[in-house]
Amino acid sequence: MRYYSLRHQAPSVDFRQATIAGQAPDGGLYFPEHIPQFAAAFLRELKTKPKADVAFEVLQPYVGDTIPADVLRRICAEAVDFEFPLVPVAERSSALELFHGPTLAFKDVGARFMSRCLGYFSRQGQAHVTVLVATSGDTGGAVASGFLGVEGVEVIILYPKGKVSSVQELQLTTLGQNITALEVAGTFDDCQQLVKQAFQDAELARRYFLTSANSINVARWLPQQVYYCFALQQWPHAEPPVIAVPSGNFGNLCAGLLAHASGLPVHHFLAACNANDSVPEYLRSGNFAAKAAVATLSNAMDVGNPSNFVRILELFGQEFEQLTNHLSGYTVTDAETAATIRAVYAQHNYLLDPHGAVAYVALQQYLQAHPAARGIFLETAHPVKFYDVVEPVVGAKVPVPAALGGLLARQKQSVELPAEFAALKAYLLGR
Ligand SMILES: *Cc1c(COP(=O)(O)O)cnc(C)c1O
Repeated sequence: MRYYSLRHQAPSVDFRQATIAGQAPDGGLYFPEHIPQFAAAFLRELKTKPKADVAFEVLQPYVGDTIPADVLRRICAEAVDFEFPLVPVAERSSALELFHGPTLAFKDVGARFMSRCLGYFSRQGQAHVTVLVATSGDTGGAVASGFLGVEGVEVIILYPKGKVSSVQELQLTTLGQNITALEVAGTFDDCQQLVKQAFQDAELARRYFLTSANSINVARWLPQQVYYCFALQQWPHAEPPVIAVPSGNFGNLCAGLLAHASGLPVHHFLAACNANDSVPEYLRSGNFAAKAAVATLSNAMDVGNPSNFVRILELFGQEFEQLTNHLSGYTVTDAETAATIRAVYAQHNYLLDPHGAVAYVALQQYLQAHPAARGIFLETAHPVKFYDVVEPVVGAKVPVPAALGGLLARQKQSVELPAEFAALKAYLLGR
């Protein structure tokens, strides 16, 4: 498989080069030259296939010969080494729980896959790699956990000061070793912009071999397809589901659309957003305008200018009609999010996190308009990650899962920086 830059000003590369570079030299995102189609046998046998085999079969065409099959099989098995249950919550609505990994959010899948691929490439002779990554909350922890102790790889995480939950902050600031956290006085979009600027800086390029671990990196984006397959494995109905995806940077949804383009049966996708709704706005009006990010209860989706939107357009050949046949957008307010967490807990005894709640609202709105449809909403994080939001809303304590271990007692360690490129550059050159 070759990958081309969506800005079309850089040569095409293989999976190894795309993973190491993160972003194309012209600033574009990499996109696969063709979309592999799932074999009929793959779909027929999907229900009984072990998760690790599903992951290997979905990802092998994208990886090609850049990783030997036995190594890739092991990487796939480790990336999906936890549960992905499809849990009925309300009539016609089930949650695909993506929060059973080590940092309790769906980003563990992509981060675990990418860290192992990069570790492999680094052992194959690539010099010391520095992963520079911006987080709106959950990426930081997932990437830190995925890369902790990986030899030849150093990780620097930029996060917006005061805009991530306390659990998220502890997950990305307390590991030490090869992980450093930079606390930026700005928004997630500022952090993302700083990372993009760093990649284009010639002086930094002489000193560091920089790569990204955001969903702009194909090795984080592509593996997210596999849990859409896991959802279908557990789907008990003949009619394919509607799938609601709580979205911020749109890597997750774009991976679902990619799996669908390869032949995974899905009736329709819902882009569920909080007040940061430039994509739902586009799906309604046909006009795309990036917005300044605003803070909401679902902070991991506080993204005003989603990076992966250009990939979604490319997937549908830049055809608005094609896109809207497969995807509808929903905007959910914080008031609706809180009311939904409260109501679903009271009526169905199910505790949503704020992101899953946004998707739940979108799904209910769709189901109301389509009385015969049934759907899945992605529960992208465990509610304990947002206990500061969830506990006052339901008036109960969120039980702390064992995976959180002694985290809450650890000491945060971060370096504070203003949201200015000059400051980031000075810091990086000075270490
Ligand atoms: C990152 C994140 C999202 C948004 O995912 P994107 O791929 O950026 O659209 C949604 N929910 C949670 C809990 C997240 O951490």
